[in-house]
Amino acid sequence: MAPTRPRSSAGTLDLGCHLSIAKGLPATFDLARKVKATCVQVFTRNPRGSSRREVDDAEIADAKARRAIAGVRTLIAHIPYTVNLASPRAHAWAFARQVLHADLRAADRMGADFVVVHPGTHVGEGFDAGLHRIVDAVGHALDGYDGKALLLLEGMAGGGSCIGGTPEELAAILDGLKRDRRVGVCLDSCHLFAAGWDLRTPAAVAACIAAFGSIVGLDRLRCLHLNDSLKPLGSHLDRHARIGQGELGDAGIRSVVTNPFLSRLPMCLETPIDDWTDSAAEIRAVRALAGSRSEVPPAGGSR
Ligand SMILES: [Zn+2]
Ligand SMILES: [Zn+2]
Repeated sequence: MAPTRPRSSAGTLDLGCHLSIAKGLPATFDLARKVKATCVQVFTRNPRGSSRREVDDAEIADAKARRAIAGVRTLIAHIPYTVNLASPRAHAWAFARQVLHADLRAADRMGADFVVVHPGTHVGEGFDAGLHRIVDAVGHALDGYDGKALLLLEGMAGGGSCIGGTPEELAAILDGLKRDRRVGVCLDSCHLFAAGWDLRTPAAVAACIAAFGSIVGLDRLRCLHLNDSLKPLGSHLDRHARIGQGELGDAGIRSVVTNPFLSRLPMCLETPIDDWTDSAAEIRAVRALAGSRSEVPPAGGSR
């Protein structure tokens, strides 16, 4: 039977959320199944960045088996926010460099598809000094690395000494790495909005993606953090809001998740939720937005 309306992307979105790894990766996949997430993000180590628990082969095999049962298509490993690849402080930078090197390999061993890292903040030293440090640290992480997990630089809200708040800055890092194929970019709807990209209409989202496509390269854009923004357009403040409860609102989130390019990327919620039932509800809400139409139904077409 012929469908009467365009096929919705709601059922095919690779969508999920950030989950705790505190009880181990196998338990994380059990939770992913409960919240119906096909995309899962975890921290590579304690969010404050200090320690990483070693995982043995048996636990990795168990995690991979439970991932298959849960139907998780994409696993994203996020480097802790405290890791600053652009730090002008020698010991902080050396630590960041070592964490990225170690966690890229550990995440690849766990079956991660992507390892996401914030480019960093130059803390007053200037963009060029920060860029140099980031390129050095990422180059070090990639040296001798032949895993499947890609390293993704996250697009940021910009402002202050934050690096990666514009497509030009992300492109400068990729260029510094001689466009290494093991490196890509992760976008974040909250960060984009805070950086000044209005995402509240389908046309605005399309314009944003076109700009990133021409400057960074569409083939480099590999995943999306899906968050609403607590702060207004262009504020350069990175404050995530729950879906539909921020400045983007339902119209903005719908415009993002129905964009023809973005709807094919893995999408991960990183919203301030209280427990897993909130995550399950948000995933359902996004699927509902992706499947709904923003236009007023044609006359006589209501049911
Ligand atoms: Zn991030
Ligand atoms: Zn953020």
